[in-house]
Formats: sequence, C-alpha cells, structure tokens
Amino acid sequence: MESGVNTVYRMSEAGHCPRVLAARRLGYEEPPRSQEIENLLDDCLWHEERVVMRLRSEGWDITDRQREVSLSTPLLQLVGHIDGIASREDGRFLLEIKALGRFTFNSYIKGGILAFLDYAAQVTCYQKAIQLPILMAVKNRDTAVIKRDIMTSPPLSFERIVDSLNIAEQSVRNGSLPEWKCDERARERCPMSYLCGPGKAEVKELALPDLIEAARLWREGKELEREAEEKLGKARDAFLARAREEPSFTVEGLAVQYYGVRQRSYIDEVALRSLVPEETIKQAMRPGKPWDDLRVRERKQE
Ligand code: SF4
Repeated sequence: MESGVNTVYRMSEAGHCPRVLAARRLGYEEPPRSQEIENLLDDCLWHEERVVMRLRSEGWDITDRQREVSLSTPLLQLVGHIDGIASREDGRFLLEIKALGRFTFNSYIKGGILAFLDYAAQVTCYQKAIQLPILMAVKNRDTAVIKRDIMTSPPLSFERIVDSLNIAEQSVRNGSLPEWKCDERARERCPMSYLCGPGKAEVKELALPDLIEAARLWREGKELEREAEEKLGKARDAFLARAREEPSFTVEGLAVQYYGVRQRSYIDEVALRSLVPEETIKQAMRPGKPWDDLRVRERKQE
C-alpha cells in the first residue's frame, strides 16, 4: 500500500464484518451475486423512486438525490451516496430509504434500525457527513406501506464503526485476515462464510406430530400478526394525518387523540461504558428474572 494514501471504504459496507472487508481487499474469492439478488437490487431502485414520489406528494421537498458524501479518518476514507435531503417547514432531514420484504419489514417494525446493524452503520456515516437529523422511510415491498421514522441522533457510535473498519484496514496492511466471530444468523447471510471454516453440525429435522402442528400454528400466528400490523399501520397513518390538524376527534366509536411529537430518552450503553469504569457498571448491575431463551425463525426468509 502506498504510504499516505488512505484506503476508500464504502459507507454502505461500514457495518460489514471486518474479516469480509479485509478478505475483499486482499483479493479472496467472493461468490458472484445470484440473478435473484440482482433483480431484487434493481427492484429496490424502483421502490426508492416510488417512495420519493410519495413523500413529494405529501409536501416534502426532496433534493440532493445520490449526492456523494465523504469522511476522512486517520487510516481511511469513507465514501457514500445519500438518498437525498428531505425538507419541509419544520426542517431539513437526511433521507434514507429502504425497501424490505415483509419478513424483514416486520423485523424493522419490531426492532427499528438497530435490528439491521449494517443499515444502522451506513446511516450513521451519512449522518456524520451531513449533520442533519435522519428521516428513515422504510417501505414494505409487499404492501406498499411506508414507515417513517425521524431520528435526531445517529443510531450507532461513529467511533465504534471506525474502530471496526480500522481492524479490517490494519489487517489488510499486515496482509492477514482479522480474527472475528459472528452469530449463526450472520454466518448464514455471510457471502464469504467459507473464511471461517465449516459451520455448526447440521441440526436435526424432527417430524413429530405435535411439533409439526406447532410449526403450522406458528406460521399461522405470524401471518395474522403481519396482517394485524399492516392494518393497524394503515389506520394509524390515516388517523395521524388527520390528527395533526385536528388533535381530538371520534370516528365510528373510536376516540382519537394526538399528543404531539414525543421523544423517549434512553441510556446509551456504549457511551456509558466509555465514561464509567467497568467496575462501577458491575456494581450497578442486577440479575434479571431467568427466562427460557427460545428463538424461532424461517430458515430462508428472503
Ligand atoms: S462467517 Fe461471520 S465472522 Fe466469518 S467472515 Fe462471515 S460474517 Fe465474518
């Protein structure tokens, strides 16, 4: 590597595993994207345009589409292209658009952007470059519902993202791959999982009648939950649009009351740990109630 020239990393890969980032730069083989994934990416561009049209029809002024932004750190340069800047009378926002399939959209509804650490890292970098609050517009590709969220601060610590990129970059400069561990889910999605050797032993497929029935009930429940979320989301959007102008009204026996924009405060654990000695944190820790940690998920979601 030429001294004094910082390697360029894309902001969209800022949340990727440092082992994958280093491997790409060291020329490890990466399987080509399937046609299905290419088609999905194409579709995302189409959805992005539709989201912009919807926001414009609601009075947002959308400018700076695909504007290039960059940030420099002592070791590297980060470059990205923002989806745009959205403005209306109450301010200007960094616009970030995502179009998700219904399963991932539901994960977004439940966990917010922190359920997608790569998106969270990407938008944190954009925010650091643009220094505006963020308007997330996340579209359910199957239903066309758009969830809008305003974030006044970035979802992750930019310094932590840079730490992780530095691990990749330092390893590249040493010509080796960094040690890294990920969970099973990340491993399943990893395009270069072969870098970490064989995965866990195959899990057993059970064909017991009570479990087959439980699987049917689980899927049925999930479908009902999805329908319910979709219907409640549509109703909420309609109520909210009216309630912003008329804060209190009744309709069909429902009482709708708008209390204005609220914001919850929370303790940022990462920031806290950087300010307070680990020992003090341990003293304030209390064991919670034990619970059975059971996770159920579709093995192929997208
Ligand atoms: S399997 Fe996990 S740790 Fe290994 S390269 Fe992929 S994401 Fe990184």
